[in-house]
Amino acid sequence: MDVVHPSVRRAQAEATADPDAFWAKAASELPWFSPWSSVFEAEPPSFRWFVGAETNMAHNCLDHHVANGAGGRAALVALNERGEERVFTYAQLLHEVERLAASLRGLGLGKGDRITIYMPVCAEAIALMLATVRIGAIHSVVFAGFGAGALGDRIRASGSRAVFTADVTYRKGTDVRLKEIVDDALLGDPHEVEHVVALHRTAAPMPMTETRDLSWDEFLARGEGNSGGYTRVESNEPAYILATSGTTATPKLTVHAHGGYQVGISSMARWCYGMRPDDVWWATSDIGWVVGHSYIVYAPLLIGCTTVAYEGAIDYPAPDAMWRIIERFGVTGLFTSPTAVRALMRYGDEPALGAELELLERVFCAGEVLNPPAWEWLQRTVLGDRIPVIDHWWQTETGAPVIGNPYGIGLSPVKPGSAGVPLPGMEVSVRTPEGERLPTGEKGILVIERPFPSLTATLWGDPERYGNDYWGKIEGAYFTGDSTHIDEDGYVWFAGRADEVIKIAAHRLGSIEVETAFLKHKAVAEAGVTGRPDEVRGEVISAFVALRQGYEPSSELRDELKATVRSELGALAVIADVNFVETLPKTRSGKIMRRVLKAVVLDQQPGDITTIEDEGSVVEARQAWMDMKAAISDE
Ligand code: AMP
Repeated sequence: MDVVHPSVRRAQAEATADPDAFWAKAASELPWFSPWSSVFEAEPPSFRWFVGAETNMAHNCLDHHVANGAGGRAALVALNERGEERVFTYAQLLHEVERLAASLRGLGLGKGDRITIYMPVCAEAIALMLATVRIGAIHSVVFAGFGAGALGDRIRASGSRAVFTADVTYRKGTDVRLKEIVDDALLGDPHEVEHVVALHRTAAPMPMTETRDLSWDEFLARGEGNSGGYTRVESNEPAYILATSGTTATPKLTVHAHGGYQVGISSMARWCYGMRPDDVWWATSDIGWVVGHSYIVYAPLLIGCTTVAYEGAIDYPAPDAMWRIIERFGVTGLFTSPTAVRALMRYGDEPALGAELELLERVFCAGEVLNPPAWEWLQRTVLGDRIPVIDHWWQTETGAPVIGNPYGIGLSPVKPGSAGVPLPGMEVSVRTPEGERLPTGEKGILVIERPFPSLTATLWGDPERYGNDYWGKIEGAYFTGDSTHIDEDGYVWFAGRADEVIKIAAHRLGSIEVETAFLKHKAVAEAGVTGRPDEVRGEVISAFVALRQGYEPSSELRDELKATVRSELGALAVIADVNFVETLPKTRSGKIMRRVLKAVVLDQQPGDITTIEDEGSVVEARQAWMDMKAAISDE
């Protein structure tokens, strides 16, 4: 029997039968200034959507709703961990965005110009993203946790003419100084930056370079006499540039265009998340990541609901901070990450059980696999099985979800550990590295069979790499780089990045399968595993484990963990060593960087770690590994 909801199957069948008609129908849900001459044009690896149609994403996010009588509805709730909150209606946000658009024009910026935004998740930054898109310019938001090196690379790579920043961002009780980092980033190599605009949020002095830097007020004054109106752009004009998060390698600069991107993100907002105008929606991500672009800023506003934007850590000032925000603002839809769930789990049940969460209707997670033990905790312990917790899969490149369980169309059974089924319009298959299609149940590389509107149009400044990395590996298909299998019901199970698969004897184990087995033990908060060569077995597994509060490392615990994994995965999963650490190496978006663990166990340098959250985690992992080796040689 087919377990997938019949409405989802119907939508999938409709998309497969006539993809152009399917996407044209999806696009007709949005306003356009003029019609397209064709829905889709392909000159691989270049794909164009809604060709010739004129649009403007920022107009559709704001003016459209105001014109339709929704100007008084709350558009944005901007909060921070210091307890400051500001609410903007659609009319108020439009007014702010118009002012900023006029000011950008006052700086001489316009269509096609690149603008770097290195700012906290605050109302000014979000309004600036919208203002940039409004005038047809292209923003490149750089996560405000990156250092000067990573920022400088991104400013230069985008060829930005202006950089916007703030004196500080608030992070776990400290003020992280941003303006000085911008100054450092602009030293040295040549760049094209003419203006640096800085928002002054505190009383502390901020260094300013007279010929180049402007305060926010000086910037606003440039708006005098300039238009704040929107610029009509052709559907395929870029709206923004955004680097991938760098889990696996050096970041790549994706490019999302006005037309296709809007259609993709707003369709998936409706189909996947069931987003409606009366929602209070909160994605706990940051504007520095794709989730922040698509599901803090653009899609909630395209749909016309209230979006919550939060600056700070979800467990600060107290472990129950996230639950309290949901309670206070009556959040109806939550989007968070497995790393956040695991971090909250570490505090135990109590902080999560104190808040009133009745208005919350559904929770989504993406970014990594939502391991079944973490799913179980959130679904059963915290939410008492009242509402669904739904994993779904996508990438910076895809702009919007690709695999999920479409809550908005009809929820199918949730299978913990699986990201769900291909969403309508997405056709996928599992292949060998040579491109051969694999049957149901067999593990291989996930590919997407055809382009779809929200997929990155190219890589900024490097179309050749776009062709090679994504379309050149498997003929005619988009290469995701993730290892998966598809089960008999059509659900997709992610096992980790294809190049992180561990080969033991003749078997292939995904890093995530092993990590999930570790999480079955109550002492484990997080685990990251990697393979290392072994003469007999091909590879064995080295594990790095962070413990939950109240547990201490010991050799007994190490043996227990090995036994837990063995009982979950069988004798095949040979855990050669368990290294206890406080913090796993993660990207600043919270993803475990297994390539760093691999470098540690191979006694190599870790390569590009500009995207790492905490360099100390590499030192810690290396120390744990050296202690482990010394202990083994003593035995
Ligand atoms: P990013 O460059 O940050 O967009 O990372 C995209 C990658 O994150 C994907 O290729 C996957 O490896 C991983 N990922 C995202 N969502 C999921 C998920 N729900 N399950 C498993 N892996 C995921």
